[in-house]
Amino acid sequence: MPVGAGDVVRTAELTKRYGDHTAVDAVAMTVRRGEIYGFLGPNGAGKTTTLRMLVGLISPTSGTATVLGRHPGEPEALRRIGVLIEGPGFYPYLSGRDNLRVLARYRRIASGRTVGSGRRDRFAEVEDVLARVGLADRAEDRFRTYSLGMKQRLGVGAALLGRPDLLILDEPTNGLDPAGMSEMRELITGLAADGHTVVLSSHLLGEVQEICDRVGVISGGRLLTESTVSELRGAATILVRAEPMEKAYPAVRRVVGDHAAMLTAAGIRVDAGRATAPAVARAVIESDANLLELRIDERSLEEVFFEMTKQENPI
Ligand code: ATP
Repeated sequence: MPVGAGDVVRTAELTKRYGDHTAVDAVAMTVRRGEIYGFLGPNGAGKTTTLRMLVGLISPTSGTATVLGRHPGEPEALRRIGVLIEGPGFYPYLSGRDNLRVLARYRRIASGRTVGSGRRDRFAEVEDVLARVGLADRAEDRFRTYSLGMKQRLGVGAALLGRPDLLILDEPTNGLDPAGMSEMRELITGLAADGHTVVLSSHLLGEVQEICDRVGVISGGRLLTESTVSELRGAATILVRAEPMEKAYPAVRRVVGDHAAMLTAAGIRVDAGRATAPAVARAVIESDANLLELRIDERSLEEVFFEMTKQENPI
């Protein structure tokens, strides 16, 4: 299948088996340029295995993947990808700055970029990255003295070396406290605003809901769905409580249509989109009923996920 101009990642029937166990089962995922794509699923769902295949760390048993128009692992593609999978293995006794300088040197040697990539360029790039991930003030401190949040941000910094188009981050907020998570979220949305396409895996619905443009939900190795967060959550429902109902209900039905309004024990349920809320409120008031409450109910991604997987383990 040709890769669309906006597609950064596209897989077809991507499968990885370990013996009898199918870790990733015929996954067809598409990541578009410039988006933050959330790869959401519980522990053991197959997220890391999929990401490892995208960067050529492991080969698929069957199926294909195209990343930046190339096969995974091709040097041309790898040059344009920044990866944070299972931590880059920093030296504990080196400072954050020196760790990045070492990595910058390795990356340039590995990519064969020798012209115009001397010490001065390399060091300037490291300073840019340190500032970008908010570690400029602590750059001289040894890695082992960093908090988990700082370690993770240095990991993102390492992924940013070489100014990649695509960032692949495996559980970047894993183990972080709420403040660390929020800093990481801010960093990731900033990176997308800078023009990076970001693929991140997570088992945290709230996080994905907050920062991702599109989501792929994976469970038991299978991609259950892929869509925007709002599509996944579905249309909002409006709930209206009014008195007397005999006046309010017919008035609401006249505005949204007979099929979109239903009388329930909790009140009038309107399934006509959140944009109809002002018209519904006006209809109730003009019917001479008292408007007691108008509430917009939206499903959380969590509810959607549970419906989709019908599994007992919370993620
Ligand atoms: P987690 O958040 O726990 O890392 P995940 O969604 O990233 O979960 P994977 O690490 O991709 O899940 O694992 C998917 C399944 O494949 C798991 O059942 C895991 O035990 C299995 N698996 C992964 N790597 C191997 C391997 N090298 N050998 C055997 N089984 C493996």
